[in-house]
Amino acid sequence: MTTVLPEAPAAETTRARRIVVAAELGYCWGVRRALDIVQEAASPDRKIAPIGDVIHNPQIVQRLRAQGVEGKPDFDAAMREGYKRIAITAHGWGPEMAKNAAAAGVELIDSTCPLVTKVQRMAQKLARQGYFIVIYGDDYHPEVKSVLAWSGTSKAKAAKKVSQLGWNATRADIGEGRVAPPRKVALVSQTTKNVGELMAFARELEALVIPEGGEFRFVNTICEPTSERQRALQRLIEEDRCDLILAIGGKKSSNTARLAEVGNRAGVESYHIERPEDIADEWLASNAVVGITAGASTPDDVIQEVVDHLVARGYPAPENGIRPVDPDYVPAY
Ligand code: SF4
Repeated sequence: MTTVLPEAPAAETTRARRIVVAAELGYCWGVRRALDIVQEAASPDRKIAPIGDVIHNPQIVQRLRAQGVEGKPDFDAAMREGYKRIAITAHGWGPEMAKNAAAAGVELIDSTCPLVTKVQRMAQKLARQGYFIVIYGDDYHPEVKSVLAWSGTSKAKAAKKVSQLGWNATRADIGEGRVAPPRKVALVSQTTKNVGELMAFARELEALVIPEGGEFRFVNTICEPTSERQRALQRLIEEDRCDLILAIGGKKSSNTARLAEVGNRAGVESYHIERPEDIADEWLASNAVVGITAGASTPDDVIQEVVDHLVARGYPAPENGIRPVDPDYVPAY
């Protein structure tokens, strides 16, 4: 049944009701690619154990299980359960995984995103050149752990704040409780971080490293799909002047929560929702232009369900559907 909401209040009637779908949302290129690789290799008779989660989405995890793909927390757990095929997820893994697989005689299916591989090899190269490696990111995240492992040195650390690195002075200013960074420091980033926050971190770190003949290398390794997603959200806010932003993604999806947070910080009423039932009718009654965005693990059909829900409440369907289809898209790397 179609529920048509009452007209928006007088102040809003100058703006027609509209759904604006972000130009970039949902699965990123690397997650789509990884799912394709694993699903093509899947067979219920020859089960695959991805080490870690292929994706943080309960519906997709269930579909994969029916295809013989079930994530295991680590290599040993997969071996204990007798798996003969294991997969590396889009986040990547340290170099030991390929060695372990070869030693155990199991097939390795590698779906590491090439944009993560780039960061891993960059960290390795810079470490070999004598730099202390700093990774701007979450130290518990599998991608960050994989980059630390590939750097192949104990002189590497992940941090979200410069203070977490344990350095609080330049080399000219060391003393009691004042610790300076090494002379050569290189900075890379977890691929999904916010570019503005990375730049602020880089400036603060550079100011500690550079004085007294220091060397600072900074490689912005935030991936192109992530940057585009962040820009697409900004366009919803600034160009489309959305009144309301719905960020769709599993409740545990931190990148979806972050999208809603950015919207709210910019002064746009924004909500992190998991499914259409989470949308309160009063949000729609007072807001004409609704922006739709979604986290990196949100499947297209879930985004479509949210759009259908809005259409059933009197919003015209977005002209171009939920995403421009470009099967040949490959990000720069
Ligand atoms: S590096 Fe970027 S494109 Fe690749 S999986 Fe991560 S977020 Fe997706």
